Amino acid sequence: MFIADAHCDTLYEIAIKGIRPEDCVVTRARMVTGGVGLQTFALFAGRQGTQGTPYADGVAMLDAVPELGVPVFTGDLPDTPPQEPAGIISCEGGEMLQGSIDRLHEFHDKARLRMIALTWNYENEIGHPAASGPEGGLKPFGIELLREMDALGILPDVSHLNEAGFWDVCERAALPPIASHSDCRWLCDVPRNLWKAQAKAIVERGGFIGVNFYSNFLKSDGAATLDDVVRHIDALCELGGEDVIGLGSDFDGIERWPEGLASPADFPALLDALRRRGYGEALLEKLAGLNLWNLLKRVEAKA
Ligand SMILES: [Zn+2]
Repeated sequence: MFIADAHCDTLYEIAIKGIRPEDCVVTRARMVTGGVGLQTFALFAGRQGTQGTPYADGVAMLDAVPELGVPVFTGDLPDTPPQEPAGIISCEGGEMLQGSIDRLHEFHDKARLRMIALTWNYENEIGHPAASGPEGGLKPFGIELLREMDALGILPDVSHLNEAGFWDVCERAALPPIASHSDCRWLCDVPRNLWKAQAKAIVERGGFIGVNFYSNFLKSDGAATLDDVVRHIDALCELGGEDVIGLGSDFDGIERWPEGLASPADFPALLDALRRRGYGEALLEKLAGLNLWNLLKRVEAKA
């Protein structure tokens, strides 16, 4: 079964923290073991917000792409999902662009960005994070950026964005909103998760929601199990999300994960848990990877 993951922070571990590729959670070997065909590798440039060096960090992470040990698609995707581990590039923390459309083009030309998480946990030139409360929508540069992202075929990723910004994206972007790594806030009330109305809006617009494996987003006491991941997927299915739900592991960016779901090698354990819950193979194929793949292909065709 083709498996695709919408978010990990492996490039940050390698390029910024200096961790050896083989010591990261996401490795080619574990992708092979788990059957992962497509891993989204984020250029995570938000750690210190605009106070840090987000542009230079982004460049450093891009330079580290060859160290991943898997081919990364920087042009069009192949016609069919890859059978061998491969990657695509996203951005997490739009401060990497320094408020400049030229920077957007620079990164896009080199890496073919597929999605941009408009903020991380700090306010930037684009908007405001969920971490600082629901008020305050997108800034003028954020609105200009969405227009350009629509033209280039880069999906707006609302994970980390606050509520006012979320609704601005829904209103302003032609491309559907995605949440690459967020869970259900009505099951676990943390600002990084989506309220039911937000999840519904993503479903209605044909976007994508990647379920995050961070235990503290899955269960209030942080003692999450595989069943909690299933619970969040169930809840999204109840909203009619069978064509938009997928995986957004957040591997290499999280310190706690459900027991038995510690790395890409464990994706099959999650699929088995869903099978035990009664999920059929056709739906599993969508959740495991086809929903993300199909959206990426649709966006590429339009760009
Ligand atoms: Zn994140």
